[in-house]
Amino acid sequence: MNTNKLKNFARLAVEFGVNLKEGEDLLISSPIEEPRLARLITEEAYKKGARKVSINWQDDELTRLTYKYRSQETLNEVADWEIAKLDYQIAEKLSNRISIHSQDPDLLKGLDEKKIAEAIKVRSQATKKYVKYTMNDILSWLVISVPTEKWAKKVFPNLEKEKALEKLWQVIFDVTRIDEDWEITKSNWENHIETLNKKAKFLNDYQFDKVHYTSKNGTDLWVELPKDHIWMSAGSTNAKNDMFIPNMPTEEIFTSPKKDGVNGRLVATKPLVYNGLLINNFEFTFKDGKVVDFKAEVGEDTLEEMLNSDQGSRYLGEIALVAYNSPISNSNILFYNTLFDENASCHFALGKAYPTTVKGASDLKDEELSKIGLNDSLIHEDFMVGDKDLNIKGYKGEKEVDIFVDGNFAL
Ligand code: ZN
Ligand code: ZN
Repeated sequence: MNTNKLKNFARLAVEFGVNLKEGEDLLISSPIEEPRLARLITEEAYKKGARKVSINWQDDELTRLTYKYRSQETLNEVADWEIAKLDYQIAEKLSNRISIHSQDPDLLKGLDEKKIAEAIKVRSQATKKYVKYTMNDILSWLVISVPTEKWAKKVFPNLEKEKALEKLWQVIFDVTRIDEDWEITKSNWENHIETLNKKAKFLNDYQFDKVHYTSKNGTDLWVELPKDHIWMSAGSTNAKNDMFIPNMPTEEIFTSPKKDGVNGRLVATKPLVYNGLLINNFEFTFKDGKVVDFKAEVGEDTLEEMLNSDQGSRYLGEIALVAYNSPISNSNILFYNTLFDENASCHFALGKAYPTTVKGASDLKDEELSKIGLNDSLIHEDFMVGDKDLNIKGYKGEKEVDIFVDGNFAL
């Protein structure tokens, strides 16, 4: 692995990712199997004047043992001290958050799915009030990934362990636009942000009433957009008015659909890993926003579990555009990791909508959000629908405009 690129990755995460300012706290979560990036990020953050950097180590093996052996009762326990910790780190200190997410895509395979789903649901309910700190961009947050052994072997099954890890590092650096030289890395990102912003601005100025998706694979879906919707691109702004970039890599421009304004058939084009379980070759039928029918060749039970999470989990909460001709897509690699796969493909998310995607909605209460058409749920799960045949047209009154032709932006 190229150590100069790794150092630039850390600097990119702190300077452009969360854009940490002097006196602020940083909370990192990282796989314990690959601690090097987390250490460099910590150093970079202190150099920028961070007050305190804290870390939550994640270990896939321990996670599996936890779900395998612990009873439902103990899995469902959310201790007072855990809430107190969130109160302090998130609500009080508004810590910048960097999640280094790397998981074995088959981590929970063969375990009791119902038990896992219930435990995750109970925890999500208990910690729901902290979700708004990221979903409403109150604090700066960033999701990135580093290679871990099982993940790398899943992506490159024909390579030996060391080669698979090395290859995955290379690909992550490439698609995250990281160069050995810091100035080049920096200008890569400045240019990329500007390109995405221009497309978002076009869509924002147009304010389409609805969009129509069609593809040879059978997708034929109408999606209404809420009044005063905002297409977001790479950059977001936190409550202190500092710019940050929530995902690295990022290729998407996204907004929210109108909760009850989605109708038709939507066919997924890549597999999805949900709670450590794989779902593949799946599709949905929507009526007035709701999933009324679905099927999956692999993981249909897992998909059903996900759809039945709560009232909002059968409705869409995100619509995102990614060109078929873009770095992650062109790599032709299936990552089994949503951060990468969602940035290779046009996608939607089932579940909660980002309040930042409608003018003035960040200050609204949950009940008010649903009135303006934004969905609420404990889940927010992206799934991919883009392919080389995807066409998307936008409609404003009588006017029809090509947004995507044959998988790519027509703008
Ligand atoms: Zn997205
Ligand atoms: Zn999403």
